[in-house]
Amino acid sequence: MLSVFFKLSLTTLLFVSFVQAQKSPQAPDVSLFSQDVIADSPVLETLDLPIYRLELTLSDDLLNVEGSAEIWVTNTSDDNWSELVFRLYPNALGSLMTVAEVFVKDVLVKTQLDIENTVLRVPVDLEPSEEVRVSLRYTLELSPEVRSYGRLAKYRDALSLSHAYPTLSVYKNSAWLENYLDEQGDPLVAETSLFDVTVHAPADWQVVTTGQTLEQASSDEHQTLRVTTGPARDFFIAVVRGYREIKKQVGETQVRVFAPQTLLRGARSTLEVAVKALEFFEKNYTPYPYKEIDLVAIPVEAGGVEYPGIVVITNGLLVGGGNLTQVVVHEVAHQWSFALVGSDQISSPWLDESLTQYLTLRFQEEYNPRFVDGYESYWRRYWDESPNPMLPLGLPVASYDERSYVGIVYGKGLFFFKSLADTMGTEALDEALAGYFRENAWGFVSSSELQVSLEHSCACDLTRVFAEWLDEAKRLQ
Ligand SMILES: [Zn+2]
Repeated sequence: MLSVFFKLSLTTLLFVSFVQAQKSPQAPDVSLFSQDVIADSPVLETLDLPIYRLELTLSDDLLNVEGSAEIWVTNTSDDNWSELVFRLYPNALGSLMTVAEVFVKDVLVKTQLDIENTVLRVPVDLEPSEEVRVSLRYTLELSPEVRSYGRLAKYRDALSLSHAYPTLSVYKNSAWLENYLDEQGDPLVAETSLFDVTVHAPADWQVVTTGQTLEQASSDEHQTLRVTTGPARDFFIAVVRGYREIKKQVGETQVRVFAPQTLLRGARSTLEVAVKALEFFEKNYTPYPYKEIDLVAIPVEAGGVEYPGIVVITNGLLVGGGNLTQVVVHEVAHQWSFALVGSDQISSPWLDESLTQYLTLRFQEEYNPRFVDGYESYWRRYWDESPNPMLPLGLPVASYDERSYVGIVYGKGLFFFKSLADTMGTEALDEALAGYFRENAWGFVSSSELQVSLEHSCACDLTRVFAEWLDEAKRLQ
C-alpha cells in the first residue's frame, strides 16, 4: 500500500520550540514526566526507567505510521549487556513493523531480526548502571483486516493503535524475555517506562492516549499533539471520529469516557461504574497513580482491553449487550494488576488476569452483592466446561486452547484467589494485596513475589497451595 503522509504546518512558536528540542540527544528532563502522576507517586528520579521519545506520523487513512524513536536505556542488572532486545509486536498481530536504521550513541549498528520478526537485537556494550541512547526510524503498516481481537486495528470511526513503537523487552534472570506471542491473550512484556510522544494526525479525528497532552496545535487538515506520561508500561493511542466526551473528577484523577454520540447512555453507565471502581480499588488497595484515566469505546472483539491510564471497552457493551459493569471493573482493576505491577503476560497470564478476576469479585461483593452468585457461577461454568479442568493455572498462554485459556486463567484463577481468601480471610487477603501493589509498584514480578507478599501478611506458608493450583509437576504426582 502506498502511504500518503502529510507535511506539517505548525502555527505557534511554542510548538516549534518543542519540536526542535526533540532533536536534541539529551534525555528529557524527568520533571516532564511528573505532569500525569498524583502527588503520592514515587519519586521519578530514583526509578532509572527507560525513556522513550517518539514521533509518530499517521497517514490520512490511519493505516500507516511513520515513526522515529530515541530511547534511553540504563542497564539495571548486574550483568554486562551485549545486546538490547526490542519487541516488534505488530509483526505478531497481523500488521507489519519495519525498522530502517538503528543508531547506538549516534553510530549506525547492524541489527538482527529474530523469532518471526518479533525480536530486534541491537548490539551494545553496556556495563551495569551505564546508560545508552538508541535512535531508530521505522514504519508500521496496519493490516486492513481485524486480527488478534482488534488490539491493532482500524474501524470506520476508530483506530486502536497499540504497540506502535519497538518495545524494549524485560531482562530477567540473566536473559531477555523473548517468547513468541500467541493469538489469544495479551502480548506485552515490558518494564515501566517514561514516554514523551509527539503524534501527527489528520485534524478531523480525536487522539486519546496514555498520559497527558501537554501541547496541541492544529491546522485545517492536520493536528499535532505532544503527550508525556508518568511511569507507564505501555503507550496506547486511540484515534476516534464523531465521539462525545463525558468526564468526572475523582480526587486528583479525571475519569473520561469517549464514545460515539449514539452510545451516550452507555457512556454514562461506563463513567458511573469506572468512578466507583476507581474509588473502591483506591480505598482497598493503593492510590491510582495517574491524573487521568480514559475509557474509549472501540468495537474490538474482546469485552475490553487494558493499557496504562486508558482502557478500551467494546461498543456492544454500551448498547446494553453483555455485562458492562463486569468488563469496566475488570479493565479498571488492570490498572493495578498489569499497569502498576507488571508480569509476563505470555508465560504467566494468570498472574494479572486471575487476580483481576478476583478484584472484580471484590467490587461486586461491595457494590452488587446480588450479582456475586451469578458472577461466580458464570466463571465456575467456564472452568467446569473447559476441555480439561485439571490443567494447572501456571502455564503459558500457548499451552491452552481457546476454551481452556478462558476456563482456566479466568475461571479457575478466580477460584484460586477465592481459596486464598478462604484460607487467609477476605480482609487479610485485601491487606496482603495492598502490600503486594505497594511493594511492587512499577515493578515486574513473578508468582514468587505474590507468594512472598501474601505469606508476609498471613505469617503462613502458602507453598503447597500455590503448587497445587499452579504447578504441573505437583498435579502429576
Ligand atoms: Zn483482563
